[in-house]
Amino acid sequence: MTDKLTDKVQINTLTLGALQTNCYLVNCVKTLDAIIIDPADDGETIVEEVLTRQLHPLAIILTHGHFDHVLGCLSVKLAFDIPIYLHPSDNFLIKKAQASAEHWTKLSADPVPPADRQLVDGQIISFGQISFQVIHSPGHTPGSCTLLFSPDFNPNHNEANLTTNNQILFAGDVIFKDGFGRTDFQYSRRGQLFKSIDRIRQLAPNALTYPGHGEPFYL
Ligand SMILES: [Zn+2]
Ligand SMILES: [Zn+2]
Repeated sequence: MTDKLTDKVQINTLTLGALQTNCYLVNCVKTLDAIIIDPADDGETIVEEVLTRQLHPLAIILTHGHFDHVLGCLSVKLAFDIPIYLHPSDNFLIKKAQASAEHWTKLSADPVPPADRQLVDGQIISFGQISFQVIHSPGHTPGSCTLLFSPDFNPNHNEANLTTNNQILFAGDVIFKDGFGRTDFQYSRRGQLFKSIDRIRQLAPNALTYPGHGEPFYL
């Protein structure tokens, strides 16, 4: 599925693996510079897609450390030699992602390389002519982050024209069309998750939201 949201931002959704996790290739239409959000569990399909579309991948951004979002990291990193970004509070999860995946899916899985760079609340990351802001959104996992694309964070502020409401959010497993992320893990915090969702709604009212599983929706 490809959404070309404006003359600037293009989003390709690849839904991959046993848990049907959404991997998003987000690229600048003009420069083809791209980021890969959550390489799910099938790095080879992602590499093929990037090559077919002739994108220039610059980074792998992980919304959180759960195995169904991170197992494709090794193949993608080996193919393109690009850094992996993750909030440090989820480092413990990617360390055990391979073992968790093999336990739950009974299939063999690649190890996940450690993150190269940290995601930090409020950080702005730019590629091509677009930028997004990192919102630390803990609760589902301690290091969950959501990514907000908005003209307010765009260095070329005047040119930015993202959507009718001007905001796009990548939500990982924090919030879905019909609910919110699981909080039954021993490291999850339900109250914290609701606080994170309130904060997202304040920062990004009506954002077009792309979740880690399922269809996009408006907040
Ligand atoms: Zn998750
Ligand atoms: Zn998930």
